[in-house]
Amino acid sequence: MAQLWVVEDDETIRGVLASRLEAEGHRTRAFADGGSSLDRSLPGPDLVLLDLGLPDLEGAEVCRRLRLAHPDAIIVVLTARADEMDVVVALEAGADDYLIKPVRYTELAARVRAHLRRAGAPAPDGSARGGRLALGDLVVDLAARTVTRDDVELGLRAKEFDLLARLAAEAGVVVSREALMSDVWDEHWSGSTKTLDVHIAALRRKLGGRPAIATVRGHGYRLERPEA
Ligand code: CA
Repeated sequence: MAQLWVVEDDETIRGVLASRLEAEGHRTRAFADGGSSLDRSLPGPDLVLLDLGLPDLEGAEVCRRLRLAHPDAIIVVLTARADEMDVVVALEAGADDYLIKPVRYTELAARVRAHLRRAGAPAPDGSARGGRLALGDLVVDLAARTVTRDDVELGLRAKEFDLLARLAAEAGVVVSREALMSDVWDEHWSGSTKTLDVHIAALRRKLGGRPAIATVRGHGYRLERPEA
């Protein structure tokens, strides 16, 4: 049973989210502000639904601190704001995904299921499942879900790792945005793909350009084959 956190100051929404998720068979813990969710004595969550508009702290700041405290948790931010910058800032602060309020509960439940399934799932299809993959001087361990260079771990987050593994499965080939969204996030994805671009940017930073990830305009991304 997955442990889910709901961080939301609106009492009604918080109650509905928690009861919907419990009805789906998850254990939930609800927080009415950002500060209480940062209590380090609590056992870590598998997934956090984090409202960005909180009374005590900036949502992105809560996101950043939750990410530090719980590196493996999936963080999905909820925002009522149409301002795309809030979403981008939250994604850069470590969020894995976002939903715009008002949230459709069936979509939310489906998204949560997909995230949890992927988090527990082995490497994406097409790669050396369970084994190790060499990408130039990078070693991608698909079982341990680690990426190392010269024995130093690069510290990829869950979705960054999934994205790299998916691109690596077809190194040298363009993978469409749609394929990346559906394979790494959700097969029923219908919203914006901003999440993808932010994660690609983070991945590029962490890889330091070795190997490079090329943008193929209007289509998708290609992981360049590292030189032998
Ligand atoms: Ca709020």
